Amino acid sequence: MVLWNRDSRLVPMVSFFNVALEYGDKTPSLLEDHPLKNTLKPADAAELYSVPYWSSSFFRVSDDGEMEVTPPGGLSASMVDMVDEIVASGESLPLILRFPQVLGSRVRQINEAFRKAIETYDYRGKYQGVFPIKVNQRRMVVETIADAGYDYATGLEAGSKAELALCLAQDLNPEALLCCNGFKDDGFLKLALWGRSLGKNVVITLEKLSELDRTLRISKELGIKPAFGVRFRLHAKGSGQWEESGGDAAKFGLNASELLAVLERLREEDMLDSLVMLHCHIGSQITDIRRVKVGVREITQVYANLMKRGARIKYLNVGGGLGVDYDGSKTTFYASMNYTLSEYASDVVYTIAEVCRGMKVPTPNIVSESGRALTAHHSVLIVPVVDAIGPTREQPMLLEKAEDQHQVVTDLEELLESVNKRNYREAFNDANADKETLHNLFDLGYLSLYDRARGEAIYNLILQKVAKFVKDLDYVPDELEDLPKILADKYVCNFSLFQSLPDNWAIDTLFPVVPLARLNEKPTRDAVLVDITCDSDGKMDKFIDLRDVKSTLPLHELDGKPYYLGVFLMGAYQDVLGSAHNLFGKVNEAHVRVKAGGKYEVELFVRGQKARRMMENMGYEEAMLLESMEKQTKMAQKKHGLSVAQSKELLEDYVEELLGYTYLEFEDPEVSVAEL
Ligand SMILES: *Cc1c(COP(=O)(O)O)cnc(C)c1O
Repeated sequence: MVLWNRDSRLVPMVSFFNVALEYGDKTPSLLEDHPLKNTLKPADAAELYSVPYWSSSFFRVSDDGEMEVTPPGGLSASMVDMVDEIVASGESLPLILRFPQVLGSRVRQINEAFRKAIETYDYRGKYQGVFPIKVNQRRMVVETIADAGYDYATGLEAGSKAELALCLAQDLNPEALLCCNGFKDDGFLKLALWGRSLGKNVVITLEKLSELDRTLRISKELGIKPAFGVRFRLHAKGSGQWEESGGDAAKFGLNASELLAVLERLREEDMLDSLVMLHCHIGSQITDIRRVKVGVREITQVYANLMKRGARIKYLNVGGGLGVDYDGSKTTFYASMNYTLSEYASDVVYTIAEVCRGMKVPTPNIVSESGRALTAHHSVLIVPVVDAIGPTREQPMLLEKAEDQHQVVTDLEELLESVNKRNYREAFNDANADKETLHNLFDLGYLSLYDRARGEAIYNLILQKVAKFVKDLDYVPDELEDLPKILADKYVCNFSLFQSLPDNWAIDTLFPVVPLARLNEKPTRDAVLVDITCDSDGKMDKFIDLRDVKSTLPLHELDGKPYYLGVFLMGAYQDVLGSAHNLFGKVNEAHVRVKAGGKYEVELFVRGQKARRMMENMGYEEAMLLESMEKQTKMAQKKHGLSVAQSKELLEDYVEELLGYTYLEFEDPEVSVAEL
C-alpha cells in the first residue's frame, strides 16, 4: 500500500497531462512557432500519399498543394475548385467526380498497347476489346467507352438479360463484339439471337453444355443463325484475391470433354463456322504476370487443338483480370500488380503467337475483357470530414482526485509518472492490467463512476506517452503494434462505406485516399476514417503504402473550414455493388470535362437518390407515408395539443426530408465542420 500526499502529487500530475497532450502532434521543439515548420513541398506531399505511383499520370499534387486531375493533352484542373463550385451552387456532398477524358484515355491506352505489341511481333490478327458492363453499367461509363472505342471496334459483354437489353441499345461499331456470358434462360438466348438479326456481332458464350442444344432449338425456331463462344475451364489459376475464379473448381466453363462434345455436335449440324470464339477468364486483379502467361499459354493450346480438329475459331478471348496498381508498389501484393499495361499486352500477343507458331495453326484475333483496368481511374469519391474524435484530441476531463480514490487509480497515476524510455513496454502491460482491474472492480460495484472516469483518462495518457517512445522505434514489438491504431483520431466522414466503397468493407480492397487541398502543409494527425452509418464496420482503417498496409492515414488538423478527402481509383465495381445500409442512397455525381488553362466544365450533374426513393425500394409508397403522418398529426391535435400551425410545419419538414438527399446536409458548409 503506497501512501502519498495528495496535494504534492496533483501538481506534477497536471503538468504531465499537458506534456502528454502534445504527444498527439509531435515533439515540442524550439521550431514549433517557426513559420516554415509546417510547410510541405508538393513533391513530398505526393510521395507521402504515393500519388505518382498509383495515379497513372491522371492525378498530381499542384504547386499550390491541391489535387489536380490531369487528363492527357497537358490539361489540368484543381479538384477542390470543382467541389467548391458545386457546393456553392447549392448541391450537397458526398459526390462522385467522373472524368470522361480519363475513361476515354484508358480505352485508347489499352488498345494502343495491343496495337504496338501486334506491330512489334508482326502478329497476324487484330485486337478487339470487350467491356464487361457488370463492372460499371452507368450510362456515362458505357457510352463513353462505346464512343472512345468506336474506331477500335470495342465491344460489350453482358452477363444477364437486363445487361444484354442495355448493350443491344448501344451504338457500336458493326464489327464490335457483343458477348453474352453467364447462365442463360430461353429469354436471354432469344434476345441474343434477335441481336444478330439486327446485324450485331452477338456471340453467345456457352458456360454450360446444356445451353448448346437449347440455343440450336431456339435459333431454328427464329430462323437466325447463332454465333457461339465457349468458355473453357482452365486448370491455370489467377493470383491474388480472385484466384478461385479460375482452376478446376471454377464456377463457370466447360471442361475438355465437354468442349470436344460441343465441337462434334456442331460438326453434326454442319455448323462448325458458328463456333467463333474460345474464351477463358481466370479471375480479376491478377497480380502476377506469370499467371497471365500460363493461362494464355493453356487457352492457346486448347485453341490450337480445336483448330487442328477442324474448328474455324476467329477470336481468342483471354478474359479480364488486367490489374490496377491501387497501392502503387508494383508487386504481387493483392492491391498491386507486378507488370505494366504494355507488358501485359506484349505477353498476351507474344504467347499466343508463339504457341500458334509451334502448333502450326493460324493466329486468331485477340479479345480481352478488361473491366477494372479500364474504369477504375475515371472517378473519385469526394467525402467531407465533418468531425474528428479520438483519445488524444479531446481534452480528457481529468477529474480532480477524490478523497477516497481507489488504489487502482492511484497505481495508474504512479505508472504514468514512471513511464520512460527503458520501461515503456512493461508500463504498457501494467497499464492494461490495471485498466482491466479497474473495469472488473467497477462491474462488481467496488469502484465509483468517478474513479473509473479518472482512471480511464490516466490510462489514455499512459498510452500516449508509450506511443511517443514507440514512434521512434525501427522494430515495434508485437504487443505494441496496435497502439497507433488505438490512439488514432477518428475522422468522421459524411458518406456510407457500404454504399460508396463496398469492396473496402467486404474484401479489403485498398483505395488511395488523399486530402484535396492543404497538401503544402504538413499533416499533423494520424487518423482512421469512419462513416455515418450506424454500423461499427463502417470504417476505413487500412491504407495504401509502398511496403505495407498502413493502419492510419496522415491528415491535417481541422481548422473550421471544409476539409475534403478524395478516394481515388473507385470507378470499377464500386458504383454498382453498393448497398443501401441505413437507407443511404446513391450519391450525387458530376461529370467534369477539363479544358485548357486550368478550366473545366461540369457537363452533367446527376442527383443522388432521394429518401423517398430509398423507402420506395423497401416497399413504402410516399402517399402511404404521408397519409399516416397526416392521420397522426390530426390525432395529436386532439390528444396532445399540437396546433394546426405546428401540424403544417411538421408535415412540411417531413416532406422536405422525403425529397431530400439521404446524407448529412448543412446549410452553411463551414458549420458542418465540428467546432474545435
Ligand atoms: C467480371 C468479368 C470480367 C472483368 O474482369 P476484370 O478483372 O474487371 O477485368 C471479364 N470477363 C468475365 C467473364 C467476367 O465475369
